[in-house]
Amino acid sequence: MTNSLVFVLNCGSSSLKFALVDSKTEHQILSGLADSLGSTSPFLKVKYNGNKETIDLASGTMHQGAIDTLVSLLEEYKLDDAIIAIGHRVVHGGEKFKSSALITAEILSEIDQVSQLAPLHNPANIVGIKAAQQAFASLPQVAVFDTAFHQTIPEHAYLYALPYSLYKEQGIRRYGFHGTSHYYVTQQAAKMLNKPVDQTNIICAHLGNGASVTAIANGLSVDTSMGLTPLEGLVMGTRCGDIDPAINNYLVQNLGYSQTQVTDLFNKKSGLLGISELSNDCRLIEEAANDGHAGAQLALDIFCYRLAKYIASYTVPLGELDAVVFTGGIGENSDVIRANVLALLKIFGFTIDHQANLDARFGKAGFINGSTGPKAIVIPTDEELVIARDAIRLTASLEQ
Ligand code: AMP
Repeated sequence: MTNSLVFVLNCGSSSLKFALVDSKTEHQILSGLADSLGSTSPFLKVKYNGNKETIDLASGTMHQGAIDTLVSLLEEYKLDDAIIAIGHRVVHGGEKFKSSALITAEILSEIDQVSQLAPLHNPANIVGIKAAQQAFASLPQVAVFDTAFHQTIPEHAYLYALPYSLYKEQGIRRYGFHGTSHYYVTQQAAKMLNKPVDQTNIICAHLGNGASVTAIANGLSVDTSMGLTPLEGLVMGTRCGDIDPAINNYLVQNLGYSQTQVTDLFNKKSGLLGISELSNDCRLIEEAANDGHAGAQLALDIFCYRLAKYIASYTVPLGELDAVVFTGGIGENSDVIRANVLALLKIFGFTIDHQANLDARFGKAGFINGSTGPKAIVIPTDEELVIARDAIRLTASLEQ
């Protein structure tokens, strides 16, 4: 194995996703997930060479323990010596980080300072960085921020209509997330449209468990649906997206909720799960709706309606539209949701090629629009590749 591997890490509070990307071929040669960390039955799932392996971890194992087990596995597979850099997904970069950064003690402390804007996310990212620094002490580590691609959004789009001092003094504004995915998809869309990226105008819907839509003008993000946190915007797996902020007050004052319970309700018990009273998993929701489950159908209807409204509104900052692009687990696989959303956008002249829509699933990119109207494209995202490329780019400049 040549020395060209980048170890990509994405740490959540109780999980850790990882991939080993070969920077020469740009293929993922190993990937997996450590989950239920801190619980009585944490486990590690690894995919390598076509084989899938599940390893039970000791009760209470946290990120450091999971990474240590992973390192032993990489040694066993004789891959450890080929790793030349570590790339970390960091959720919130605030206004400080407009691009990826080589992690130093100073950068880590700046990421820590941004944590107050993302208390549910950044602390886990920092834990992951520190664990990786222990396990791979001699390797350079790079942070790639979900917010960075959205730093080109203009002030009139990122400011809330709150007292200006809350922005100036406290940084309360819309930041946007999924930037690494929106960035990657924009580059791919430009290639498929045969246009230079800086002349490409698209609306990109990243639809996974978390979901966001971004308006991209001349290759740059100019508006996006997530806000100060990843709670704003679209209906998501368990997140409510846009709601009247007064509902918070109502729940606390009239229904006796604590603030922690409200945060939990909005983030973990709402969205597809909350409406359907069944599941946050879009596949299950679609199957149940097919079988006549009214809640599942309602969840799908609300999901598509909100998404179509966002896409329609993002024609405002664009003026000119080359394509609507679908990505993320739902966007890449659900022909049903794509067809419903394009039907809701018929005022713009969208049509759909039903066979092409069925073909563009399970990792296959493709145009799904009919012969008239604007284009619609499905593009599988690859955030790990962007992180690996940035890790290589920043490491190379370090060596010069
Ligand atoms: P992600 O967070 O990008 O991994 O996306 C996860 C979401 O994609 C879940 O809601 C899955 O149910 C959904 N998903 C994956 N495959 C399909 C499929 N074939 N049809 C509908 N939704 C899917």
